[in-house]
Amino acid sequence: LIRFDNVTKRFGDNTVLDNLCFSVRPGKHVTLIGPSGSGKTTILRLLMTLESPDEGTITVNGNKLFPADEKERREARKKIGMVFQQFNLFPNMTVLRNLTEAPVRVLGLSKDEAEVRAKELLELVGLADRCDAKPTQLSGGQQQRVAIARALAMRPQVLLLDEVTSALDPELVAGVLDLLRDIARTTDITMLCVTHEMNFARDISDDVLMFDAGKVIESGPPEKIFSDPEHERTREFLGAVL
Ligand code: ATP
Repeated sequence: LIRFDNVTKRFGDNTVLDNLCFSVRPGKHVTLIGPSGSGKTTILRLLMTLESPDEGTITVNGNKLFPADEKERREARKKIGMVFQQFNLFPNMTVLRNLTEAPVRVLGLSKDEAEVRAKELLELVGLADRCDAKPTQLSGGQQQRVAIARALAMRPQVLLLDEVTSALDPELVAGVLDLLRDIARTTDITMLCVTHEMNFARDISDDVLMFDAGKVIESGPPEKIFSDPEHERTREFLGAVL
């Protein structure tokens, strides 16, 4: 479903991704781990077309994202939703409107259709009674659950999660991770996560990719990577975070 072929991304003379190749099959849950600055967030931003690669090809479900013409890129991009560390909700819109805005504008749903779907999703994330609230009236954990529902409202085939609990107070983390575990278990959505929550990564991942200096240095199922890593850098990294 997701394929990076020889992708290189530089910021000035800093090569952040170096001839990177990896792929994620449909329905799989893959976690990216590795030291700060190793390029994990950049991968998610490329998939959201918030950045462009300098070289290489990125495809999503057979549609080229890079290099591609505008129409093909839009098709590929529609399949992907993202949840950010800082929620990024629309501050002036109600919770309900946060969920209906893009489905109406981008997918062409009627307002009624979008609201029915939005209410189902707010039910799923446990916030059905907060439709009319503004984001600032919610806790961080609630805002992040709205952000997850907003991403799902676009019916993405791929959900990108970028350290979605790192801006939350510790007591709110578990609720958000439990919700994501449920989504992973009950949907066939493909997930690509960047997280420092190693227990969560171990629970939900089919595969873990360990990054260092813009390359995947080791990959495999979580049981293998967390218990018996092959690469010295992986051992050092896990030794520091576990
Ligand atoms: P972290 O775990 O700290 O988020 P990461 O592995 O996600 O790290 P990235 O955020 O992808 O790493 O960043 C990789 C490198 O690219 C860093 O050195 C960062 O400073 C640099 N970088 C990222 N975005 C930009 C930008 N817009 N302009 C210049 N440099 C950037």
